[in-house]
Amino acid sequence: MTLRPIDSSALLIDGKLIPGSGGTFEIVNPATESVIGLAAEGTAADMDSAITAARTAFDTTSWSRDHAFRAQCLRQLCDALQSHIDELREITIAEVGAPAMLTNGPQLAGPIEDLRYWADLVDNYSWEQDLGTATPMGIPTARRVLKEAVGVVGAITPWNFPHQINFAKLGPALAAGNTVVLKPAPDTPWCAALVGEVIAEETDIPAGVVNIVTSTDHGLGAQLATDPRVDLISFTGSTQTGKAVMRAAAESLKKVFLELGGKSAFVVLDDADIIAACSMAAFAVCVHAGQGCALSTRLLVPRDRYDEAVAATAKAMAGIRAGDPTAPGTVCGPLISARQRDRVEMYLKLAVDEGGTIVVGGGRPANLENGYFVEPTLVAGLDNSSRVAQEEIFGPVLVILPYDDDDDAIRIANDSPYGLSGSVWGADAARIEKVVAGIRTGTLSVNGGVWYSADVPFGGYKQSGIGREMGVAGFEEYLETKVVASAPKS
Ligand code: NAD
Repeated sequence: MTLRPIDSSALLIDGKLIPGSGGTFEIVNPATESVIGLAAEGTAADMDSAITAARTAFDTTSWSRDHAFRAQCLRQLCDALQSHIDELREITIAEVGAPAMLTNGPQLAGPIEDLRYWADLVDNYSWEQDLGTATPMGIPTARRVLKEAVGVVGAITPWNFPHQINFAKLGPALAAGNTVVLKPAPDTPWCAALVGEVIAEETDIPAGVVNIVTSTDHGLGAQLATDPRVDLISFTGSTQTGKAVMRAAAESLKKVFLELGGKSAFVVLDDADIIAACSMAAFAVCVHAGQGCALSTRLLVPRDRYDEAVAATAKAMAGIRAGDPTAPGTVCGPLISARQRDRVEMYLKLAVDEGGTIVVGGGRPANLENGYFVEPTLVAGLDNSSRVAQEEIFGPVLVILPYDDDDDAIRIANDSPYGLSGSVWGADAARIEKVVAGIRTGTLSVNGGVWYSADVPFGGYKQSGIGREMGVAGFEEYLETKVVASAPKS
């Protein structure tokens, strides 16, 4: 089987690759603005069929109980995807605008390889725990705790790291024994649809266990969240949509797992190498044009070294150019769409209206005629109450803010509705630990440490989400707990 050329991708419903009932929709390469192909336009009726298939597969097959078979299927899927990695890479770069270098990591190769982690976890997990015998209310009783799949999982995902996020849901959900309906973002349907092709044609994953419905209609996500046959919603996207998903899921009281937005702080302590730290912050915010929820977009520096920090950050940022994602050296590609570029440009104007100064960047790169590119941009002269410092921009935009002392840095870092990630740079271990303990956030990097890994739980405090993705904690989001208490045979 070859994944190319693709005229129109298909839906995967009940083991079959089928056209969308709504026809097709165009996929645009964000680096060139040209149409690269068509995706299947799923409808509410298609989503209904997908939910029926997932429910039936869960209720009538041995998928949820056959641990060894699931581990085998996950390894088989990993191998099959590896055999198509070059085709998937080309399509991912074209559809997502992802810099090629990132496809060796979180944009493709990382999440595919992580399928082995989930398969190994199926083999090694303690599915049953013996609590021993006790005599509650005078009755001798043998007690066991069983871990079981939740049921049908509705997975709703965004466009920025489609493979990472699709597999961070499919991997543990399938490993745990659930069946899944995946609704990918309208901007990146192919990344999901091609995985559907591989599942249907190159694995033994039974019909109905994975269903993939691409569509431009956000209402299909809402349908998943509302349908009482779905037991759990695993959502990644904006905080605003996450709240809508939670409200929709409340009626049928389904489990809700949310990975949402962020406005993370990069704290440079006054004993750090300011130039090295600020250069790293400048580089990091430009990765994939700033379209990462966990990127640090507020740079906190000591007030008495503010000018020096602005100069160092500006110098580093001026050296990073937005450009062609297919070029091996590109870090900052395009934004995903004209709509997203409009949004980022609205914030650049707002930064000036709020009294800030654009130190570097602030517009579209003059040398690029096509594509939704925005220059890496540094905003100075604002405080943390500005909208530019409070709201998620999702572009290559860094706001540099002064603080007075370590406690003030912690206060500013926490003065945000979000709590997803962040960084601390410094020399003194005790001071670093105090700042780490003070910041309310789900992941923190110290002096450039990397938390991204299959076995590391990722997620947010406050309005950055509920629950954890990846790692054993991420696996257990997809499990129920059943207690069996047996009286001795008389
Ligand atoms: P979005 O919230 O607009 O859309 C995400 C998904 O939700 C899409 O598939 C969309 O079709 C669907 N959707 C839209 N309305 C819905 C509704 N009412 N009910 C159910 N589903 C609905 O987000 P986006 O613009 O695609 O992605 C960017 C956002 O995602 C940013 O805020 C970013 O921070 C966040 N994000 C978070 C993480 C994380 O792990 N915390 C990771 C990546 C992106």
